[in-house]
Amino acid sequence: MGIGKIINNFIIPDYDILSMLVNLNMKLKLTALLLFIAHIAPAQDIAFARKMVDTLTSSYFWGRGYTKNGVNNAAAFLTAQFQSYGLTPMDGKNFLQEFSYPINTFPGKMDVAINGVDLVPGRDFIISPDSHGVKGEGTLTKKDSTHFIDIKNRVIVVLEDKLTFSAEQKVLDYTIIEVDKKLQKTLPKTIKVNIENKLIDDFKTGNICGMVTGTSQPDSVIVFTAHYDNLGGMGSATYFPGANDNASGVTQVLTMAKYYAEHPQPYTMAFILFSGEEAGLLGSKYFTENPLMPLKNIRFLVNLDLEGTGVDGITVVNATVYPAEFAMLKQVNEKGKYLSKVNSRGKAANSDHYFFTEKGVPAFYIYTLGGIKAYHDIYDISATLPLTEYEDLFNLLIGFNDNLMNKK
Ligand SMILES: [Zn+2]
Repeated sequence: MGIGKIINNFIIPDYDILSMLVNLNMKLKLTALLLFIAHIAPAQDIAFARKMVDTLTSSYFWGRGYTKNGVNNAAAFLTAQFQSYGLTPMDGKNFLQEFSYPINTFPGKMDVAINGVDLVPGRDFIISPDSHGVKGEGTLTKKDSTHFIDIKNRVIVVLEDKLTFSAEQKVLDYTIIEVDKKLQKTLPKTIKVNIENKLIDDFKTGNICGMVTGTSQPDSVIVFTAHYDNLGGMGSATYFPGANDNASGVTQVLTMAKYYAEHPQPYTMAFILFSGEEAGLLGSKYFTENPLMPLKNIRFLVNLDLEGTGVDGITVVNATVYPAEFAMLKQVNEKGKYLSKVNSRGKAANSDHYFFTEKGVPAFYIYTLGGIKAYHDIYDISATLPLTEYEDLFNLLIGFNDNLMNKK
């Protein structure tokens, strides 16, 4: 174990090595390594994709959220990637478009015991992300078959079939603890809790915005977007890796960026990695309100979020809003025999394309179907993410862009 391991395998995500590097104040050397790494992997190489998803889901990035500097470590890493591919910052100066917002975080204690049994955070329970911190012991009163209340400590225990975490910008004056129903063989009667929360009024983060200027029509722009934030951590020992959501989409955007940096096109190719998506599409909303290029120049935008599977094909949000482009996409797919199925869907406010659509920017949001079911939980990990259609999706998008530019 040592720095040699990093170079030989061109992979980073061993938390111990990283914390050692950081502790030794070797951040600059780490950046240099990351830049070096970027030049080894060929574009659209599945090995590159796997290592990138491994890296982004490592504990060093702590679920790309609000504690342990997770999302901002990810921003530094991804900015270095953009730089190493030779992209130009969209505003001409800086890849990072900074903004801030309030967020409720859980940096410390996350201890829950019910009927005297300690529960494991993430696996046995998840708290509601707008929960208040609380410390105490109490008695649970049954409200119905799934709800139990400790009035003294203002704690609600809810039995759930599926534990799902999220991100919230506000704090309630009570605490909601969702417990895996399968675990609770006996009725919850007593509770002991020690949960620490911290509301950050002005959490600073940023979108990462780069481009490859067009060779003949630079004012026509094709944009690829993906959010790089995820849910971060819940307590000091548990984080949400976010492999499918959305290390997969970020990796696809990086692959496109790397490819187009090596192959400039008639149109400008732009790439935006958004932050703040999980807290309510905040990064993409900020960008559409403070665009770094005229929005009317965007010929088309493709947003990528949940790209790690695909055995059952893909779904295209906004397909019915832009039927000509959807027909084009389907044609490219049929010709190349890429995805088994390309489903059409209407408008939906379910990812970062939404505020662009609202501003009249033509956009699709594409997500893959089938395979794993992990979502907003601790099981959304690289090891079980198949990346089934990673290369087909890349080829489909390249073909789609060629058609948009009338190259074929
Ligand atoms: Zn997502």
